[in-house]
Amino acid sequence: MPRHVSNSDSEEPLEDRTAALSLKSKRTERMQRRKVVREKKKDAIVNLTKLPTELLLECLTYMSPREVFNFSFANRRFHALVTANSRVIGDVIIERRYTLLAQCFPTPKLLRDVEPSIQDLLTDSSRQTQLSIHRRPYQHIQSPDAQQLCTCLTCILTWNNLGLVLDFAHWQSNLDNGVPIPTMPRGQTTEWNSELVARNARIARRAVEDSLWHARILEMHLDSTVRSIKRHSKNKGNKRTHVDMTEEDAAAGTDAFLSKHGPPSLEFPYQRDEYYMLEAYLPNRWWKKIDMRWAYIIAGQHERDLELVQRLATRDTLALLTHTMACIDLDDWMTDVLDFKTYMIGSLFERSTSSTAPLKHYAAIV
Ligand SMILES: [Zn+2]
Repeated sequence: MPRHVSNSDSEEPLEDRTAALSLKSKRTERMQRRKVVREKKKDAIVNLTKLPTELLLECLTYMSPREVFNFSFANRRFHALVTANSRVIGDVIIERRYTLLAQCFPTPKLLRDVEPSIQDLLTDSSRQTQLSIHRRPYQHIQSPDAQQLCTCLTCILTWNNLGLVLDFAHWQSNLDNGVPIPTMPRGQTTEWNSELVARNARIARRAVEDSLWHARILEMHLDSTVRSIKRHSKNKGNKRTHVDMTEEDAAAGTDAFLSKHGPPSLEFPYQRDEYYMLEAYLPNRWWKKIDMRWAYIIAGQHERDLELVQRLATRDTLALLTHTMACIDLDDWMTDVLDFKTYMIGSLFERSTSSTAPLKHYAAIV
């Protein structure tokens, strides 16, 4: 643009006739072309982000949890969108894809959601000490943090199950390829194991408060289950009843086929050695022959456990026995029977040596 500059000596206005040189060379033309391509690409991204949030959210609920997480890594806008709506997205995905698995693997309750007076009973130091004695930490699962999570019997089991399926998922390649899972001396750990177990605990902890992470864990377990069923169905030496799964079932990306009759999950895999023969670990359900369907038993158990904690605080030992017997069901029966034995031995010993502490009775079975 021409400019007028006043000259104080001659007082004649100077007209600035300089102007930008028109650039014309092969190099500038090349740069221009690249700029156009860049802007086109940029425009394409901007168009997607300009989609209404409702429409984007609707699309995300039809994707798998893994795909949703990948989408969130694309840019900051998508990341913020997924973070702000992860619970809504997670709830719908679980409803669409993992309704059965969600009943086998619910998340434990947060301690802060438990009534304050029961929180004190749960975190009581003598109870926690008894817990650590009777439930020795597993090598492949990190124990729940009693200051953050409810540590009633049900919540401990649900927490352990989340850690277990994450660990089982980690070793799928080894199991597929026949590569032995590294072992560790009994009662010891290694750096890689500590890191793996801590990582799994971080994911499980996120799942407690965010259903998208919960959905991701269920997705991983569905993948592990499909791969395990494939492995075992190829194993002609294994004559056990297998889970009925077609090619379509395996490719569906939902747990619907697990509603069919199949072998029950009787025992919790206490160590990784049990992964080799593990086909479909689906706890907290049993087959109702009369109705020809699976019955899911976890609902309401956390509440019943909390009731028991309260009743024991008032020395209602009959409640303890009733509850313990009620816990012995078809599912996880081995765990329950072992716990019951531990309790009986512990309570007999206590009766003969010291005054009865109600909290210790409860701790003995959980
Ligand atoms: Zn609980």
